[in-house]
Amino acid sequence: MSAASELRIDETRIEQILRDNKKTDAVRVREILAKSRELKGVTPDEMAALMNISDPELLGEMFQTARFIKEEIYGRRLVLFAPLYISNLCCNECLYCAFRRTNTEVKRRALTQDEIRRETEILIEQGHKRLLLVAGESYPHEGFEYILKSIQTVYDTRKGPGEIRRLNVNIAPLTIDEFKRLKDSAIGTYQIFQETYHRETYAKVHVGGRKSNFDWRATAPDRAMQAGIDDVGIGILFGLADWRYELLALMQHIEHLDTNYGCGPHTISVPRMEPAVGSDIALHPPNPVSDIDFRKLVAILRITVPYTGIIMSTRETPNIRRETFALGVSQISAGSRTNPGGYAEGEDVDDMAQFQLGDHRPLDEVIRDIATLGYIPSLCTACYRLGRTGGDFMDLAKPGLIKYYCGVNGLSTFMEYLLDYASPETREVGERAIEAELAHMASGSVEKAKMMMEQIKTGKRDVYI
Ligand code: SAM
Ligand code: SF4
Repeated sequence: MSAASELRIDETRIEQILRDNKKTDAVRVREILAKSRELKGVTPDEMAALMNISDPELLGEMFQTARFIKEEIYGRRLVLFAPLYISNLCCNECLYCAFRRTNTEVKRRALTQDEIRRETEILIEQGHKRLLLVAGESYPHEGFEYILKSIQTVYDTRKGPGEIRRLNVNIAPLTIDEFKRLKDSAIGTYQIFQETYHRETYAKVHVGGRKSNFDWRATAPDRAMQAGIDDVGIGILFGLADWRYELLALMQHIEHLDTNYGCGPHTISVPRMEPAVGSDIALHPPNPVSDIDFRKLVAILRITVPYTGIIMSTRETPNIRRETFALGVSQISAGSRTNPGGYAEGEDVDDMAQFQLGDHRPLDEVIRDIATLGYIPSLCTACYRLGRTGGDFMDLAKPGLIKYYCGVNGLSTFMEYLLDYASPETREVGERAIEAELAHMASGSVEKAKMMMEQIKTGKRDVYI
C-alpha cells in the first residue's frame, strides 16, 4: 500500500458549501432525490442542499427517498446488539461524559474477568449474539492487556445453547502495534467517534488527557486500517457543533478513508448527547439537535452513503427509534446498561452510568416491538466470520448482492432467537413477521431461508451462509 495522505478536514470548504447551498429550490431538490434513487450517493453540495429543506412536502419526499434506499439495500432487517461496559476509569476530561477523570459523582469500577464473564452470560441468556465492548481510557494495572483479556473472556463464555459470535470494540485510539493485537483477538468492528470535527469546539470540550489531541483521535481509523482492521466504525456526538457542518466533515473523513484504503467506514453512529451525572454540557448541549433535525440527518446520511450501516443506540426514546428505522438506521442496541456491572446488578444512573438511556426496555420487548412494526430483528454475525469485511463486503453490497446473504441469515438467526429465548407473545409476533417476510422474498431466497430455519427447528444452531 502506498503511503496514506494526511487527513485534513477542510473547514473553509465546508463553510463555503453551506453558504453556496443556503437557498434550495424544489426543482433542484427533486433532481437530487431522483438521482439518489440510483443508490450511488450524492455530492457534498447536494447533501448541503438537502439539509436546507424546510417545506413539509419536500421533507416528506426526502423521507420517502431515504425509506426507498433503506428498503432496497437492507430490506426490513434491523441488526441488534448490546453494549458491554467493562470499566469507567478514565484519564480524559470530556466535559459531556460522566466518566471524565475529575468527576467525583461517579463511583469508579473496572470489572474483573469473572465479572465480565457474568455480564456476558446474562447477555447470552437474553439472546444476544453481538456485543460492543466499551471502556474509558484508563485500564487497570495490566494496561492494554486488560482489554485483550476481556475480549478473550467474552469469546470464551458459553451459556446454555448460546455464545457471543461477534464482539465489536469502542475504546480510545491505539498505536498501530496495539491495533494489530486487537485485530488478532478477532474483534468485529473497531469503533471510534470523533465527537466533533469542529476543531475549536473540540478543544473547548476536551480539556485534559490524551483525548484533547484532535489529530491523534481523527487518525485512529487510519492506524486501525493500516493494522489490517477492515471494519471501522466512525461517528459524531450530536449536540456539540452544528450538525450540518458535522455531516459535511464526516463526508471528508469518509472520502479520505475510501481514497487511502479502498473502503470507507463500515458503520456510522449517530449518538445525540444525553444528560450525564456531573456534566452541565450534557444537560445543555451547545448545539442541540431537535427531533426533526435528527430525522433529517439520518435520512440525509442514508441518501449520501447508501451502503454504510447506521447505528442508533438506546440513547433515543422508543418513538424516535421507530421513526428512524424507516429512514435508514440499520443497527440498534437493545436492553442496554451503561454502568459497568449493570446487567448483573441493574441500572445505576446516578452512581456509575455514562449517560441516561432513553429506552429502558428489555431485548424481548424491543424485538417484539420491531417485529410488530414489520421489521426482521437480525442477530446475524456471518459476514466477518466468513471474511466478508472491508472492501470485500462493499464489493458485494454495491451490486446489491449482500441482500441475499443478509435476508436468509437474518431469518435463520431470528428463528433461533424465537426458539431459544423469546417469550410466548414475542414468539407469536415473530413467527408472523417471518411469514410476512417470506412472502416478500425472491423465490430462491425463500427456499434457502426455509431450509435454514428447518435446520434450526430440528436442533442445529448457528446456521448461516
Ligand atoms: N472512552 C472511549 C472514547 O471516548 O473514545 C470509548 C468509550 S466512550 C464511553 C463512547 C462514546 O460515548 C463516546 O465516544 C461519546 O460519543 C459517547 N458519550 C459520552 N458522553 C455521552 C453523553 N453524555 N451522551 C451520549 N453519548 C455520550
Ligand atoms: Fe473518557 Fe470516553 Fe468518557 Fe471521554 S467519552 S471521559 S474518553 S469515557
